[in-house]
Amino acid sequence: MFPTAARATVAGVLLACLAWALPARAQLDYAELSRLPPFPEEFEALDDPGRLLWLRSALAKASSPAEVYRLKRVLFSELYYAGQEETASEICVESPPLREDLFYRQQCILVTAADFATAQQQLAALVHDARQSGRDAAAAQILSDMAWEQSKQGDIAAAFESYETALSIAPADDLELLSTLMMDTATNYIVNGDETYVRRGIELLARSREQNEQALRNPGPDLDAALLRDNILLTHFNTGIAYALHLFDYAKALSSFEQVNQAESPYLASSLTFSALSAAELGQYKRARRFLERVEAEGSSYFSERPVVKGYLGCYQQLTRRHWDAAQPLSNCLSLDPETTIEVQLDVYRRLTEIDDPAIQLAGLKALKSLFFERLEPQLRGRGSSAASNTELVRLQRESDLKSVVLRQQEDLQREREEANTQRQNFFIALTILLLTLALLIASQLRQKKRLAEQFERMSVRDALTQLGNRRLLEQQIDRELAHVARARRTDPGTALGIFVFDIDHFKRINDTYGHRAGDEVLVELARRVGLATRESDLLVRWGGEEFVFVARVDGEARIRQLAQRIVRAVNGEPFAVSGHPPLQVTCTVGAVQFPFIDTDNLQVWTRLVSLADAALYHGKSLGRNGWVIVSNRSVDSLEGIDRVLGQPLSDAVAAGAVSVQTSFDEPTVQAFTPLPQ
Ligand code: GH3
Ligand code: MG
Ligand code: MG
Repeated sequence: MFPTAARATVAGVLLACLAWALPARAQLDYAELSRLPPFPEEFEALDDPGRLLWLRSALAKASSPAEVYRLKRVLFSELYYAGQEETASEICVESPPLREDLFYRQQCILVTAADFATAQQQLAALVHDARQSGRDAAAAQILSDMAWEQSKQGDIAAAFESYETALSIAPADDLELLSTLMMDTATNYIVNGDETYVRRGIELLARSREQNEQALRNPGPDLDAALLRDNILLTHFNTGIAYALHLFDYAKALSSFEQVNQAESPYLASSLTFSALSAAELGQYKRARRFLERVEAEGSSYFSERPVVKGYLGCYQQLTRRHWDAAQPLSNCLSLDPETTIEVQLDVYRRLTEIDDPAIQLAGLKALKSLFFERLEPQLRGRGSSAASNTELVRLQRESDLKSVVLRQQEDLQREREEANTQRQNFFIALTILLLTLALLIASQLRQKKRLAEQFERMSVRDALTQLGNRRLLEQQIDRELAHVARARRTDPGTALGIFVFDIDHFKRINDTYGHRAGDEVLVELARRVGLATRESDLLVRWGGEEFVFVARVDGEARIRQLAQRIVRAVNGEPFAVSGHPPLQVTCTVGAVQFPFIDTDNLQVWTRLVSLADAALYHGKSLGRNGWVIVSNRSVDSLEGIDRVLGQPLSDAVAAGAVSVQTSFDEPTVQAFTPLPQ
């Protein structure tokens, strides 16, 4: 699995960033910096050592603070990218970056921070400053870099969170940034997540590909078509890897790799190799052989010739041949370079344990064991407390200790047996136990991954698309609202909450006619409009899909009518602008109910009231949509009574005298409905 190329090429942006700068220190006015004459062309033409010499002699002559600052900053970046971090860090100290000079600040943090935790703290402050000054793209980029590091350090939960935040703040029109972010997020999900996350990663890759393809179709002046095509191939390749190495769905893997196999690219050798493996796994040996022949013939590239890559590709080729040739040695797999990514090592060793030869199985087990103890476990242990509680780590540790003892015992046992030259059968018994041990080991690791993913899910209270809160946020905050009403009613019995549920009408048609992306834009715009129509103390959340819940403090039913009407109008009042399409007429239907609905101290009643508002909403859909329905209590006096109402069509509950409804459909003047084109 590879990150995007963009990550490796941050170099060179430093100069370009000077233009954004703002005044920051008394003695140095940033506007002054941008007024400096451009660097002479001769500088660009120099080689690396020449540039350093040029900068140092220019520094000796420079007098204005702005010129000195600029020269030092460029000198810093030359040293930084030449790998001379220590000398570079001295420049950060003697010529500290200005507050708004985000990229220089970021690089300085990386070279000067005492440790990872300190760097993370300083980077978080940097993200904050970037957002404060409205530079969301820069903030997203820094977050994405942070996430990359967090993931490398094994703090997967933090990495997930940073990526999600980066995705949620990246400007919607910065296609390149969005696409890079999606690729990196996807890589992280696929490599570190459980199955749900792997699938989410695959989805992100598809969306990133869509964006790149769209950019290719609408070429702009500074479009880098080659980079876009490369990105597209990379999304196919990484999708193939996700299917082959993580989901073991070889048919899907093959169809992704086939997209890559059609063009010249750095991934060709890898893609052909994994195609061969997938075909072999599917039992299509002839096809697998053809892929292997193509690797030999045309698969060589700078990338595939790197020793680490060459080593593991060779291993996968051997594993492939092993499918039809039981004598095929697996020498490459047994001598993987230690620099090989954990993702590949885990996969290779796992495959070795499934080979039909006890010696190879054992070698695979041993390699897995040392990978676990030497690389994965220290990572787990080193991770911050945010990701796993101490007790959990102690438990994991105890489990691993136990397993290593069992493993050692089994190894001893096996040696004795072999020395005594006893039956091979005994060896198989030992092996079975080892395999069981290993299964436990892997299961505990998977559990760990899953737990991290779940923990992350639990922490997130924002919906990444609309920026509204989500269901969890409502669950967290509703108690405060209910308590507020209970308190306020002691002095002012009119105080109540309006609970509204609303849902976009015929949203599926919008998706089907204009595409999912247009649907997403509608969701974002709708959230924005309704958000504008609400107050600070109100709670507006995305309940799921195209359904929203809104909770507002009110002083009676008239106010609930007014608010319901306001939501309907915010949506149908003006057509929605959606990029690439004519304006869309969008409508929604609102269901509402008042809290308190019955006289009870049970705060959990609110979830039933949401269901009741939902029932009102569906009643509104049946009345023709684009309007509101409010349910009021007539004779319900218990939670069970509400359940009875919920258990039947709303019109039956009305007929039975349990509740009554008021609707906007009795007042046709409020409608402004233009049907969507079919
Ligand atoms: P109704 O008026 O009865 O509500 O009709 P509808 O088409 O809106 O109802 P339905 O519930 O059948 O369709 C909802 C659709 O919303 C289906 C689902 O694909 C789409 N959807 C859910 N979440 C998202 C999202 O995040 N983005 C987009 N674009 N579509 C979404
Ligand atoms: Mg709908
Ligand atoms: Mg719906």
